[in-house]
Amino acid sequence: MKKQYDYLIVGAGLYGAVFAHELTKAGKRCLVIDKRDHIAGNIYTHEVEGIQVHQYGAHIFHTNNKEVWDYLNGFAVFNRYTNSPIANYKGEIYNLPFNMNTFNKMWGVITPAEAAAKIEEQRKASYTENPKNLEEQAINLVGVDIYEKLIKGYTEKQWGRPCTELPAFIIKRLPVRLTYDNNYFNALYQGIPVGGYTAMVANMLEGVEVRLGQDYLADKAEWDALADKVVYTGPIDAYFAYKLGVLEYRSVRFETEVLDETNYQGNAVVNYTDAETPYTRVIEHKHFEFGTQEKTVISREYSAEWKLGDEPYYPVNDEKNSALYVKYKALAEGENGVIFGGRLGEYQYYDMDKVVEVALARVQAEMA
Ligand SMILES: Cc1cc2nc3c(=O)[nH]c(=O)nc-3n(C[C@H](O)[C@H](O)[C@H](O)COP(=O)(O)OP(=O)(O)OC[C@H]3O[C@@H](n4cnc5c(N)ncnc54)[C@H](O)[C@@H]3O)c2cc1C
Repeated sequence: MKKQYDYLIVGAGLYGAVFAHELTKAGKRCLVIDKRDHIAGNIYTHEVEGIQVHQYGAHIFHTNNKEVWDYLNGFAVFNRYTNSPIANYKGEIYNLPFNMNTFNKMWGVITPAEAAAKIEEQRKASYTENPKNLEEQAINLVGVDIYEKLIKGYTEKQWGRPCTELPAFIIKRLPVRLTYDNNYFNALYQGIPVGGYTAMVANMLEGVEVRLGQDYLADKAEWDALADKVVYTGPIDAYFAYKLGVLEYRSVRFETEVLDETNYQGNAVVNYTDAETPYTRVIEHKHFEFGTQEKTVISREYSAEWKLGDEPYYPVNDEKNSALYVKYKALAEGENGVIFGGRLGEYQYYDMDKVVEVALARVQAEMA
């Protein structure tokens, strides 16, 4: 007997939304479900005091992929927001990423040649052949001053461990710019969808049946009975009931507050780079959209240990977890009629543009 739907799409995040949109456009009958009570997955934004709040962490869209940029512009108008975070080290403010503004503030140097000479002098003074840990690696790249004020405390809070106990590879590529350029991303296209990401995803899902608050794994057999194929964007290990072990994540905890003032910190993103401030960043959401509301909403970000049941944020792509993922992937390949995708289904940190890129490629292959 013909099933009610051609595809059941588990997860109304960006990956699921691309799939649902493309399949529906091609005439397939799709049902999207999500266990949360909202669409858009981790890029979900919702309005508080007229401000779009990024509930699962600040999301700044940036890409060099014109196809992806054009695709998403079909569902939203992007504003001109450019990510220019600043660092607050015990009340001293520095521009990020490390550039001439940072070096000028740090050492008073004016020209790129002076800055390069200063960095070189600092690197040479404490250079370690074959750096064994993150501290040695960072000092090799930018010298002691920048390491002490802008890297050490922040990184230790982020990872919950001293930099001397962290592997060097974590920061193999520290961008150092000898221009007065505070634009964090080296991307051709950048911006935030006007009105928030949720509205963008809602446009992608227009005309698609969506059921929220539905956990696929809780009633898997019943859901499977509804559709010929499944696109699963939840955690791959959860799909297999963790039978080979649990894939680990790094987590973040957000403390969000409405403040009775118009402008708390003058920038969307402020990193606290000292070790004493317990949070790593403060996000002031209105600045993503140049908001002029009377109030403001801020989120303090804390690094948090992850345990099963917590919100999974960043996959830990170390040897142990990568090896475990390979085993789950092999199991997934044996699951007939199920496509595993997205950041949880592929246990992969994907920026938004990459998710759209891989989802488009996968859905096109599916329809070929
Ligand atoms: C803190 C943080 C900040 C980020 N910032 C940026 C940024 O600035 N720029 C950028 O480009 N990218 C950023 N990203 C990446 C971005 O969040 C991802 O690219 C994107 O959210 C991935 O979409 P997805 O559909 O794969 O996953 P998700 O958005 O996680 O969607 C998966 C969905 O599946 C649902 N689901 C899971 N299991 C089940 C189940 N059993 N039943 C039903 N539903 C289920 C979940 O509820 C979820 O809604 C950031 C990521 C994090 C963690």
